[in-house]
Amino acid sequence: MTYAEMLIDIAALCEKPYRAKQLFAWVYKRGVEGFDAMTDISIAFRERLKDLYCIKGLKVLDVRTSIDGTRKFLSELDDSNRIESVIIAEGSRLTLCVSTQAGCALGCRFCMTGAGGFMRNLTLGELTGQVFSAKAMLEPDERLTNVVLMGMGEPLANYDNVVKFTGILIDGQGFGLSHNKVTVSTAGLVPAMERFMEESNCSLAVSLNATTDEVRDRLMPINRKYPIDEVITALRAFKGAGKRHVTIEYVVLRDVNDSADDAHRLAQLLRGVPCKINLIPFNEFPGAAFKSPDNQRVNAMSKLLQDHGYTVIVRASKGQEIQAACGQLRGWRDEAKA
Ligand code: SAH
Ligand code: SF4
Repeated sequence: MTYAEMLIDIAALCEKPYRAKQLFAWVYKRGVEGFDAMTDISIAFRERLKDLYCIKGLKVLDVRTSIDGTRKFLSELDDSNRIESVIIAEGSRLTLCVSTQAGCALGCRFCMTGAGGFMRNLTLGELTGQVFSAKAMLEPDERLTNVVLMGMGEPLANYDNVVKFTGILIDGQGFGLSHNKVTVSTAGLVPAMERFMEESNCSLAVSLNATTDEVRDRLMPINRKYPIDEVITALRAFKGAGKRHVTIEYVVLRDVNDSADDAHRLAQLLRGVPCKINLIPFNEFPGAAFKSPDNQRVNAMSKLLQDHGYTVIVRASKGQEIQAACGQLRGWRDEAKA
């Protein structure tokens, strides 16, 4: 629940509004596992709360740890849908990658999640539950520094819950992260992107992945609805964009979108859009119709884009051998468990 939702319920229970403040901080900031730990709340009220609510992470079925320290966990939801979340350690950063839907309806051709079809949106409890479960897995000296909504699903297709969730993530009485350490990644749902840029100050990442509509149509069916120029125009038009971190994600596919011409076109397209560019070498998965690019090609693209003045990051693929890298999450539906 959000703070606003707690306030409403607290009023309905005829308790004073400050109770909502106490509860919110106990649940999210202090991360208590049960109502008994809430020592400044009377025992009688705690008992009432226990009857009506619960505080819980998800039911984690399996955790896999990669040699690079990436941890992927599989959770089973109450309706037996399964989702995956990933904890990625990199230098001083510890990032949780959260799923926002069971499956995804957008069906991008290079994405294993997309290939599995769409089940449903995750609830707010299932979003925060991934944070609780991740925190319970950390070593005593570890602390989550970043959250990215880049796991399974299209976050902006689960708009209301995602905005509530990011609100809890950046609330000082909530999970307490800074707004530029929370990033929502979208395949480019233009109206929802525009709304998000008005309503949230969290970072936005947009999966562009191609420099012509012809190629993007082929890779991402959503491009027929929201073609490249509409996505870029939305980013360019937004006045506050300079204050917010915008990342352009670009999955590099061998011989599909990895040429020098692509790099120059991308530089042209992004003119006037304050952003950094994230090149993501395609991660292969069984049955994929694409190949990983040559490192040299990726580096050449990166260099050309830098020459055009952009900040470029080539995203290191973490956790590849446990299928925890970008585009490899699918909820272990039919994968024999190792
Ligand atoms: N639906 C959102 C967020 C989840 S996908 C979106 O599409 O942005 C997160 C990122 O993984 C996207 O940038 C997507 O383009 C990328 N991705 C998907 N499949 C991939 C794969 N097989 N290899 C590398 N990146 C992939
Ligand atoms: Fe969905 Fe993102 Fe995968 Fe496309 S890349 S199918 S939008 S999860």
